[in-house]
Amino acid sequence: MKILLASPRGFCAGVNMAIECLDETIRMFGAKIFVYHEIVHNKYVVDRFTRQGVTFVNAVSEVPEGSLLLYSAHGVSPEIRQQARDRKLQTIDATCPLVTKVHLEAIKYAKEGYHIILIGHEGHDEVIGTMGEAPASITLVETPEDVAALTFADDARLAYLTQTTLSVDEAGRVISALRSRYPHIASPPKEDICYATTNRQDAVSTLAPRADLVIVLGSQNSSNSRRLMEIGLSLGKPAHLVDGAAELKRSWFEDVDTVLITAGASAPEVVVQEVIDYLEREFRATVEQVTTREEHVSFPLPKELRQLQKAAAS
Ligand code: SF4
Repeated sequence: MKILLASPRGFCAGVNMAIECLDETIRMFGAKIFVYHEIVHNKYVVDRFTRQGVTFVNAVSEVPEGSLLLYSAHGVSPEIRQQARDRKLQTIDATCPLVTKVHLEAIKYAKEGYHIILIGHEGHDEVIGTMGEAPASITLVETPEDVAALTFADDARLAYLTQTTLSVDEAGRVISALRSRYPHIASPPKEDICYATTNRQDAVSTLAPRADLVIVLGSQNSSNSRRLMEIGLSLGKPAHLVDGAAELKRSWFEDVDTVLITAGASAPEVVVQEVIDYLEREFRATVEQVTTREEHVSFPLPKELRQLQKAAAS
């Protein structure tokens, strides 16, 4: 058996920053820290921090007054920030800068009197945060059918934004539908779907035709990981999204000569290696890593944390 190991795969700059931020916060303050929602959508990562004593909450009201609260990589709405201020919480914002970029675009368009069509998945943390920036000025759509159901006048002042982790192809279809219905619709100069999402999807699109099976490491609630599995399926390959080697089924690998392995932007390399170890052990698999694009992106730690580091050092 041959393993085609996709590169780039796994952690993106935003996830690296958020995890490093939480690690450093624990180092400085101990583990009595609260995080609003999962720091990143990955079971392995969340379980590791939970074992260290970090508490993940779904509501600010669960955090005792005066505590330290981290915002996850997916960002939060202004309402959540206000609730944290009301409870006198000390906050550190680990929102990915590429998510913040979409928030700022939403604020700008709303201020300029546009109504925003946000392309994204209902209920996703990032979508909830972005919509919270201008709730009265944003309408969410997921599909071209949703676009067909819009009732804005032909000359309405409209702009569109997208969630950062969508399928590039599916988002393209929704954008085409929007542009043909509202040809004057405004959009930001640079794509909102982030570099990491795009690069991981390109790698699967390029390599899946060479494979009999696609294995994606990532959690079921990770949007960008699900998109990778869906690309494999759309190319006619059996594809599975798993958190780790324990979820693999031996029957998936019967009659498989080549398996493509990749990982969503929130999945750590350790779970990729677990799967490789399993396939080497059970099927004497050999690994060929194929790099479809180099990535050299990194983000600094949040400024609140850098200020705390500076204060501690002086
Ligand atoms: S997937 Fe993209 S937007 Fe999300 S955290 Fe990573 S770099 Fe940021």
